[in-house]
Amino acid sequence: MVKLGVREWLAVGRLFLNGHLLRTDDGLRLCRRFEAELAKFTGAEHALAVSSGTAGLICALQACGIGPGDEVLVPAYTWMATAGAVLLVGAVPVLVEIDETLTMDVADLRAKLTQRSRAVIPVHMINRPCDMDAILALARDHGLRVIEDASQAVGVRYKGRMCGTMGDAGVYSFNQHKNMTCGEGGAILTNDSQIHARALNAHDMGLAYRSDGPGSNTPIFVGNNYRISEIQGAILRVQLSKLRRRIDGMKRRVGAFDRALRAAGLPIAPHHDRDDACGIALTFATEDAAIAFGRQRGVRRLFDNSKHIFTEWHPILDRRMSHPDQNPWAWANVAPDRDINHCPRTLDLLRRSCAVNLMIERPLFVAQILARRLAA
Ligand SMILES: *Cc1c(COP(=O)(O)O)cnc(C)c1O
Repeated sequence: MVKLGVREWLAVGRLFLNGHLLRTDDGLRLCRRFEAELAKFTGAEHALAVSSGTAGLICALQACGIGPGDEVLVPAYTWMATAGAVLLVGAVPVLVEIDETLTMDVADLRAKLTQRSRAVIPVHMINRPCDMDAILALARDHGLRVIEDASQAVGVRYKGRMCGTMGDAGVYSFNQHKNMTCGEGGAILTNDSQIHARALNAHDMGLAYRSDGPGSNTPIFVGNNYRISEIQGAILRVQLSKLRRRIDGMKRRVGAFDRALRAAGLPIAPHHDRDDACGIALTFATEDAAIAFGRQRGVRRLFDNSKHIFTEWHPILDRRMSHPDQNPWAWANVAPDRDINHCPRTLDLLRRSCAVNLMIERPLFVAQILARRLAA
């Protein structure tokens, strides 16, 4: 988990003296400043801070005009919110297998397209980017919106570009398990000013009364309240200033593990941009080998972190929403014989795969010692 330090404490203390906690122009405008800094850091045209990654996904889908009758392709290995957000805007998630890189399998993505496919949500799991070149090309050919779920890859690069900035919109999460945190929070990145304006609207019902509205010609629709407060803004600004160092530290540790484990002949999972890799995983020939390796300190078998596997998403598999008349499956027109949750390869890969804990909060030598021990 990401730690907070004295600088975050001082930033919040200063805010307390000011006393203005809502993100309006009367205060210190910390959220505004954070958004400008995040846009600069990532290279995105626009950044909008929201109350969580889940809220970010919902707003991004609404901003892209996704809704009832639409199918959205999501990987079978992700946090449930990726698929849940799709349902909350009235569309249905169609699950896509992962491949040996442990990210979305582009061949299966292509195979699962239908007339109703409107968007794809590639998820950069455990800091490992998807095959974005292929996904973007496929999306272009089929007129799909691309919303990157970069909740687990905040600040990670793919071929020189930042995860979350390559599609129509990208989403970050700042909950405490992610690369930077303010407890709970998220952001939407986009290069499209119309999507930014609609996301701004989606995240704030009160926008209709504010002078800092989207400034677009489209009339304001009913939004939600997914705003963050200046408390989160204060913390996020400090956290962002530390992110580059943290990412560099992750890369160095991946390098140490990669060298040691490769030299020992261990089966390292392929990665879509090894030069900038911030995560390392192994996929063994058998489940037993993965179980044995996963028992060691500093590694975990991915199958054992089961809540990220589609078979554990019970409300989704059972098709249960808060009200039966608001159940997207009722109007989805999914043929009864079409199994949109069939992903046996994903289960097989996760059973045989382990991820390495980079020990990012510890000095580099601790990671180096662990790498040597795992290679022995
Ligand atoms: C954490 C996470 C989310 C949701 O983030 P919250 O901020 O917890 O709502 C979405 N997708 C993935 C892949 C995540 O890991």
